[in-house]
This record gives sequence, structure tokens and C-alpha cells, in this order.
Amino acid sequence: MRALWLEGQALRLREDLPVPSPAAGEALVRVRVAGICNTDLELVRGYYPYTGVPGHEFVGVVEEAAGAPEWASRRVVGEINAACGECPTCRAGRLSHCERRTVLGIVGRDGVFATHVRLPVRNLHAVPEGMPDEVAVFTEPTAAALELQEQVRVEPGDRVVVIGAGKLGNLVAQTLAATGCRLRVLGRSPRPLALLAERGIATAAAFGIEPRQADLAVECTGNPEGLELARRAVRPRGTIVLKSTYRGKAAIDMAPFVVDEITLVGSRCGPFAPALAIFARGDVDPRPLVEARYPLADAVAAFAHAARPGALKVLVDC
Ligand SMILES: [Zn+2]
Ligand SMILES: [Zn+2]
Repeated sequence: MRALWLEGQALRLREDLPVPSPAAGEALVRVRVAGICNTDLELVRGYYPYTGVPGHEFVGVVEEAAGAPEWASRRVVGEINAACGECPTCRAGRLSHCERRTVLGIVGRDGVFATHVRLPVRNLHAVPEGMPDEVAVFTEPTAAALELQEQVRVEPGDRVVVIGAGKLGNLVAQTLAATGCRLRVLGRSPRPLALLAERGIATAAAFGIEPRQADLAVECTGNPEGLELARRAVRPRGTIVLKSTYRGKAAIDMAPFVVDEITLVGSRCGPFAPALAIFARGDVDPRPLVEARYPLADAVAAFAHAARPGALKVLVDC
């Protein structure tokens, strides 16, 4: 099959990979559209060691699901953590933190920049009929955006600041806007802020922080300075949710966290069903984030495009 291959921080297209053979409990999925995420770019930069097919955001059609014929020919999206189901962490119900997990296109499991991918059937979610592929392909990052609402209670009227208006910040902001909180998104460049303003979300330049006002600040910048901005924005006994990962370390004075009793919450992958539901309700529309689409044959160029400073979502038709 055709696939994008990452090895030694270099990407190349391969035609010689075999179509994957699903293990017991797994489905074979024909990938339709895949999205390039910052995590993919960080993999290429060597943030994690990974050799194989990258990619974890996708929508596709099940070609084969031994033992689960009801999934055949269904259009699906898929959760990215494949848990062992047996370790103490899994038995405690924290499957996305399984110590022995593989992660689609990130840890020990070939990803979705390929014609085909295999994934456990229990990871699959059917895409509602009529939902466009270019919406469904955003299920994974939107689920990640919704994860913070599983962790932190957001009430109507709460003062919430999202730091960063890029791909992740946009989805976090749209999901938060649906709660009725008093939301403001801070960003550096005008174009992504304009996309949010078009949806009626209040925006400001990054230097426009109102110090110590926010009940909740969400860090989505993808760089180490974001945490300090969030710290300045949040009120005493407020909460900071960290959504973005980045290379390098945040140099930050921790004393204010103690003195102001600030809660720090790390937040990663989230629930798929609420993400599909929020698309179906129309509360989140990710399509304005799509900046370019490339065929799989040009996936190396697609990655170069996605790595341009300020690039929004680049999709690959597989
Ligand atoms: Zn991602
Ligand atoms: Zn496990």
C-alpha cells in the first residue's frame, strides 16, 4: 500500500508497505481523509522517537472487521490509544493511560497517512450520516478539546481565557463557547482570531491580558511562554488547564501558584461521542480551520505546508 513513512526525522512516501493484517479484535480501515496535527510535526522534529507511518486524525471506512460484521462498510473515526485491557491501570478504568498502550501513529502503531490502517474495533465510532468527512476528521482534536470539560466544571458566566488561537485553541474556544461561559481568546496573529470573531467569540491580542481576572485559563499556544500568560490571567484559586505540548521547558516562577493557590490540570485525549454530538448540533464547525488539502502522494509537501509558521489545518486525502 501507499503510505507516508517517518524514519530518523525524515519523511518519505512508500509504495512497498503491506496492507496491515488486523489482529484479533481489530478492524481494517480504508482511510479517506487524515489531518496533520502539531504532534505529527513534533514527531518529525524528533520530540518523540518514532519510526513508522505517522498520523492519528482520520475518517475512513471499515473494510474488514473479523468477529464484528456489524462494522463492515461503516464510516468511522477512531480513538487513538489502544489499551492492553489487562494491566492495573486498564483494570482501574484508565484505558487511555494504559502502561502498555500503543498510540495510533505515535507509539508502536502505524498511523493514518496511508491507504489502510488497523485499529481495535472498540476504538471505533460510527460517523453520523450526512456529516462531511472534513468535519468528522476533526473528531480527535475536538475530543481532546472537550476533555477539559470532563476534568473542570465550566459554568455559564465563568470567566474563561483561552491562550492561543491556532488549531487547538480554536477548537477549545468553540467547545467552551457552547457552555455559555464568558470567553475570551488571546492570540498573536490576526487571521486565526478573525475566524473566532466570525463565530461571535471575543478575542484580543496576547498582550491584552486582564491580570488575575479569569476563573479558568486554558493554555493552547504550543510554546513555553503560554503557561506564564495563563498564570498572569488567572485569579487566585483559579484553574489553569494545559492542553498543548512542546519541546523544551517552561521557565516559570512557581511561587505564585502556591501563594494564589492555583490549580494546574494537564489534559490530553478526550471522549469521541460528545465530539461527534457537538458537530451534529452545529455548536462547533471546524471547517474554517482547513487551510489546504493534498493527495496522499503529496503528503511530504503537505507536511511542509503544515509546518509553515501560523499554518492552520492541512488535510490529506488518502
Ligand atoms: Zn493530534
Ligand atoms: Zn493496560
